[in-house]
Amino acid sequence: MDTKTQDRSQNNMQSVQHKAIYMSEKVVKTDREWQQLLTPQQYVITQKKGTERPYTGKYFNFTGRGMYQCVCCANDLFSSETKYDSGTGWPTFWAPFSEQSIRTAVDHSHFKKRIEVLCNRCDAYLGHVFDDGPPPTGLRYCINSVALQFVAKK
Ligand SMILES: [Zn+2]
Repeated sequence: MDTKTQDRSQNNMQSVQHKAIYMSEKVVKTDREWQQLLTPQQYVITQKKGTERPYTGKYFNFTGRGMYQCVCCANDLFSSETKYDSGTGWPTFWAPFSEQSIRTAVDHSHFKKRIEVLCNRCDAYLGHVFDDGPPPTGLRYCINSVALQFVAKK
């Protein structure tokens, strides 16, 4: 094997390894495991797509500076820099922390077509996203406080 071929195969190996690391970051647990790990309210909201009553969550009017993580897997979801007061009684953001933070899916429940927001790492249900948010995105991520854990910026 000449040096060039060797280099190339090493590069390929590295990229395969990177992929494996990325894939293994997905958090997959059984329903029973989540039930044991989470509080009853966290379980109902994140695993059974529940909704906390407005103005009752701990973050809707919270203004600390830092990161909102997934309560199930500690994935970084939303930065306090994109949080704003939507007046809805739920914590609201105009953008996720990164493209990899969340994923969305169509939700047909309650005879409405809405877009639900899920943690991209563990598939926990977080809330909904609407297109009536402020600039620069015009998006309104309406998220349950119960699905979040806040980590203050040091
Ligand atoms: Zn998660």
